[in-house]
Amino acid sequence: MTFVFPPPAPPSVAIVGRTERFPVHRIYCVGRNYAAHAREMGKDPEREAPFFFCKPADAVVANGSALPYPSRTADLHHEIELVVAIGTGGTNIGLSQALSHVYGYAVGLDLTRRDLQAEAKDKGRPWDTGKAFDRSAPVSAITPAAAASLSESKIWLKVNGALRQQGALADMIWSVPEIIAELSTLFELAPGDLIFTGTPAGVAALRPDDRLEGGVDGLETLRLSVV
Ligand code: MN
Repeated sequence: MTFVFPPPAPPSVAIVGRTERFPVHRIYCVGRNYAAHAREMGKDPEREAPFFFCKPADAVVANGSALPYPSRTADLHHEIELVVAIGTGGTNIGLSQALSHVYGYAVGLDLTRRDLQAEAKDKGRPWDTGKAFDRSAPVSAITPAAAASLSESKIWLKVNGALRQQGALADMIWSVPEIIAELSTLFELAPGDLIFTGTPAGVAALRPDDRLEGGVDGLETLRLSVV
């Protein structure tokens, strides 16, 4: 096959303990998957289930990067999230089989231009400009699932050393198997898909010169600076 210009290299994420990289196929995100965060966004988690949206695959940013403050926003928000990396695809995946489709886990930031997202919500428009912008998906290296023990894990984010977000993975409204089962009824999952699983409470604005440190116990810590 020949192309009119060289196709771009596939977006990819590092893997802990390996030189080979994880090629990214798609990025799916879960909205309002922690009750405390749903409430801080003015929603009632008892009345409205979590839901999905997407980011482009090339929105991934490597751990340790200096992130340029994005355009057209004055309210860039951090959302620290557990990221699930899919190794085996499928549709209508059953709950009992769901975890066998997981390659590994990482720590991600669902960066959000909150002002653009709020405007989209007000006007009933899509969220893309608020959520799916360039460099909106920093991700740490992926820890293979066999090496990750996450059932008791806390998830947290510090900005300039101060704790901003904290929660427990056990507080997710949809568990990882439930997310995979539900998502696979809407889209055919494929090897290389990343799923951002939602953020705990404490989302807030970032400023140039901020230093971020975010983690999930048992996974590589994500470190970024905003420039
Ligand atoms: Mn999010």
